[in-house]
Amino acid sequence: MENYSALVAKQKSYFRTEMTKNLAFRIDALQKLRAAIKDNENKLMEALRADLNKSEFDAYTSEIGFVLEELRFTIKHLRSWVKPKRVKTPLTHIGSTSYIYSEPYGVTLIIAPWNYPFQLAIAPLIGAIAAGNCAIIKPSELTPKTSELLGKMIKELFSEEFVAVVQGGVETSQALLLEKFDYIFFTGSVPVGKVIMEAAAKNLIPVTLELGGKSPCIVHEDANIKLAAKRIAWGKFTNAGQTCIAPDYLYIHKNIKDQFLQQFKEITMELYGIKPLNNPNFTRIVSERHFERLTSFLDNGKQYMGGQTNKDKLSIEPTVLTQITWEDPVMQDEIFGPILPVLEYSNLHEVIEGIHRHPKPLALYIFTESNSLQQELLNSVSFGGGCVNDTVYHFVSPYLPFGGVGNSGIGAYHGKGNFDTFSHNKSVLKQTTLFDIPFRYPNVKNGLQKIKLFMK
Ligand code: NAD
Repeated sequence: MENYSALVAKQKSYFRTEMTKNLAFRIDALQKLRAAIKDNENKLMEALRADLNKSEFDAYTSEIGFVLEELRFTIKHLRSWVKPKRVKTPLTHIGSTSYIYSEPYGVTLIIAPWNYPFQLAIAPLIGAIAAGNCAIIKPSELTPKTSELLGKMIKELFSEEFVAVVQGGVETSQALLLEKFDYIFFTGSVPVGKVIMEAAAKNLIPVTLELGGKSPCIVHEDANIKLAAKRIAWGKFTNAGQTCIAPDYLYIHKNIKDQFLQQFKEITMELYGIKPLNNPNFTRIVSERHFERLTSFLDNGKQYMGGQTNKDKLSIEPTVLTQITWEDPVMQDEIFGPILPVLEYSNLHEVIEGIHRHPKPLALYIFTESNSLQQELLNSVSFGGGCVNDTVYHFVSPYLPFGGVGNSGIGAYHGKGNFDTFSHNKSVLKQTTLFDIPFRYPNVKNGLQKIKLFMK
C-alpha cells in the first residue's frame, strides 16, 4: 500500500520552521499561484476540454476566473484578517484585555472531486495558504488531464514540504487518510464524506465536508416565469448538470406548469441550441458509468423535452421529465446530470412537507414575488445556502460562506470564510500584573457574597 508518512513528516517539520505563518510569505505564495494560473490559462482550458468537454467560456467563468477572483479578494484582505482581533473583556476580568488569534492548523489534506476539478482543488488551497498552513492536495482521478496539469503547476511553484499534489484514486485517498493531518477538507459525495469523517475521527482531526444531495427548485404561481425559466435552465444545464448546487428537481405550482415548461424549453434551446448533442460546447458526462446511471432515468415519468443521448461522446441532451413522483428512481439520489424531473404542487405546505421528509439539501431555490412566502420557506426549511429568484449565484459571492448542513456537509468556505475554515481561533486573555482582584480566591472575606455581585 502507498505510504505518505515521509511526505507528511516533511511538511510537519517545515510547518514548525514558522515560515508559512509569515504574512509576506503567504501573500507571495498567493501571488505566485495567481500568476501561474494566468500563465497556464490556455493549458487549463485544453485540459478541461479534454476531461469534460468544457467550453472556454465555462472553463473561465466557473474554474479559472472564479479562482482568480478568490485569490484577488484574499490577497486584498489578508493583512486585516491575520491581525489578532481585540474583543471586549467583562467586568469580572478588570485589568486584562482579550484577543482572538487566527492560527493555522498545520498540515492540511484537500481531497477534490471531478466536476470542477481545478476550482475545487485550488479554492481550498487558497484558504489553506492564506491561513498559514501546508497542504497536500489529492485531485480527482476521473479528470486526469486537469489533475496532471494541476500537479505540474504546483510542483513548479512550491516545494513539496509546503504544498504537494498526490495523484491517485480511492487507494491513494485511503492511504493519505491513515496520516495524522491537522485538518481535512473534503469535497465529494455523501457516502465518501462518511468514510472521510470516520477516518478523521480516529485521530480527532477536524474536517470540512463539502457534500451534495438533492437541491430543490421551487417556482410559485406568482413568479416571473420568463426570468425563472432562464435562470433555472442555466443553473441546471451548466456543466451538463454536474454541479453540486444545480437545481436537482423542480417543484412547480400547477397553475403555471404549462406556461413555465414552454418557456423553459424555448430558453434551453436558445442557450444550448436546438440540437445540443451537436453543440461543440456542451459539457459531456464524466464517465461511462455516470452516463449509464443517468440514461437509466430517461424512462421515468414522461419526457417533456430532450432525452436524446450520444454514447460515443458521453453526451446527454438537456431533458425534462414530467409526471414524476418521489417513488421514481430519478428521485432517490442526487441526479448530477442534465435531467430535470418535475413535481407539481398546489400549496406551498406540500413542498415544505416533501422537502422535510428528505435529508437537508445543499442548496434551495425559490422563485416568487411574495416576501411572505420567501420568509415562510426560509424560516421552515434548513438547507446549506441558496437563492431567492435565482440559482447557483450565491456560490460566487466572497461575502457568502458556502457549505452544507446535515447530510449536505459540515463547515463552509469562500472569501473570509475560506481563511476562517483553515484557522483555529485561539482565545487569549492578557492579564495585568499591576494589581490582583482578590474575589476569585477562596480565602477572601465574604467571598461568595462579593462574587455574586459580579456573577449573577
Ligand atoms: P466522490 O466522493 O466519489 O470522490 C471525491 C474524492 O474522494 C475523489 O478525489 C476520490 O478519489 C475520493 N474518494 C472516492 N472514494 C473514496 C473512498 N472510498 N475513500 C477515500 N476517498 C475516496 O465524489 P465525485 O464523484 O468526485 O464528485 C461528485 C460529488 O461531489 C457529488 O455528490 C457532488 O454533489 C459533490 N460535490 C460537492 C461540492 C460542494 O462544494 N459541496 C462540489 C462539487 C461536488
